[in-house]
Amino acid sequence: MKISFAAPALPKSGLLILLVPEAPELEGLAAEADGRTGGQIRRAMEAAGFTGRRDTTLDIVAPGGGFSRVVLFGIGQPAALRALDLEMLGGAIAGVVQALKAESAAIATTPGMGALAAGESAALIGSGVRLRVYSFTRYKSKKPEARPLKEVSLLTAEAKPARQRLLAHEAVAEGVHLARDLVNEPPNHLHPVEFAERMRPLADLGLKVSVMTPAQMKKLGMNALLGVAQGSSHEARVVVMEWKGGKAGEAPLAFIGKGVTFDTGGISIKPAAGMEDMKGDMGGAACVAGLMMALARRKAKVNAIGAIGLVENMPDGKAQRPGDTVPSMSGQTIAVLNTDAEGRLVLADVLWYIQDRYKPRFMIDLATLTGAILVALGKEHAGLFSNNDELAQRLSDAGYATGEKVWRMPLAPEYDRIIDHDVADVKNTGGRHAGSITAAQFLQRFVNNVPWAHLDVAGTAMDGARNAINQSWGSGWGVRLLDRLVSQYYEG
Ligand code: MN
Ligand code: ZN
Repeated sequence: MKISFAAPALPKSGLLILLVPEAPELEGLAAEADGRTGGQIRRAMEAAGFTGRRDTTLDIVAPGGGFSRVVLFGIGQPAALRALDLEMLGGAIAGVVQALKAESAAIATTPGMGALAAGESAALIGSGVRLRVYSFTRYKSKKPEARPLKEVSLLTAEAKPARQRLLAHEAVAEGVHLARDLVNEPPNHLHPVEFAERMRPLADLGLKVSVMTPAQMKKLGMNALLGVAQGSSHEARVVVMEWKGGKAGEAPLAFIGKGVTFDTGGISIKPAAGMEDMKGDMGGAACVAGLMMALARRKAKVNAIGAIGLVENMPDGKAQRPGDTVPSMSGQTIAVLNTDAEGRLVLADVLWYIQDRYKPRFMIDLATLTGAILVALGKEHAGLFSNNDELAQRLSDAGYATGEKVWRMPLAPEYDRIIDHDVADVKNTGGRHAGSITAAQFLQRFVNNVPWAHLDVAGTAMDGARNAINQSWGSGWGVRLLDRLVSQYYEG
């Protein structure tokens, strides 16, 4: 599908989308279109009681003037629209256009939307369209018959700057789509080795991609991670992606993702119901992959590292047992009391490795870590845990701006003591109470006091809340949040 921009002149025919403010009179292209239909748009508005209120639509079929259809989208007070509102509007429009099975549509924008230049507001609507138009049909033997949407054209007085601005938005949307694809992939297809192989082509965008084998991990002492993988017939991988768009020698930002390509729970096996969803237990890693793609595609002026720990957690004669003790790369020993609390074991070694090897400015990890975070926050917020108030505040602000919202949860020594163990240094579960917090306390023992934030994305990375810009099971959650964090606070 192509998104194009053109001067504000009405098309001769086809599907026309009009953005209509809450105002006594139609203006600009809307007034012109009404004139061409001999006042049919105005009459339809009156008959339907459509006033331009936010989040209302009016579908007018065959209104004359050459149009097959005119669909009005109410935008309320245009000046009050935030950037995110415009993306959501674009998504909602794309949803309607797709439902109408139209091959193309023209969207007449109106000036004065938000505090933004007309070009930027048109680009944001385009971004919303791009984010919404996504499907995962790889494993369908029959492709859907419906004619696909081919072109959406945005009519704006600032077509040229809009085109320019859309490039950056599309880079991010591509990253979101990559993350969604990875999460949606079935687990027999996307195992750790395959996931790592799919990261290699990112080198074409200018990323340095290195893939670590179990032998290399063994040498580094990543026994916590390898312990999780030992019950699987698929080897573990750690992939490190480096983007050098910033000043030479400047410490990188580091993003770390949990990539459990399937989590049975291991010997502490999960109940059968819903286990199929555990193909999404690599949502954190998918987000890191999508983010690195976005940063490279839009040539972000920053140094960044993306690291993902890839394992499959299976029960097997070789699988680790509840009660096993493993030495982690940090030197700390871990008692594995529950093999289903495996994500933290993977992250422990990757976090330690990244801070030790790259001396980053901060580390942010994303992990579908605990069911408990769904109990606490549902699907509307990811859990945020951090040892650094500034980083936490920035993530909260970026979440509000992108709609990928985070909610800060506590860390405290009282919670930390819960995971002390009598034989090993630490145990990998603190029991039912405060389950998301004790998981975060566990991770904190492996960050070596580097500024760090942990995002528990179990409720958002897969089967999250659907909205105008995402209808996919694998949501790609976090790519837009972290891209915004980077562009807003760390670039230049
Ligand atoms: Mn698990
Ligand atoms: Zn897991």
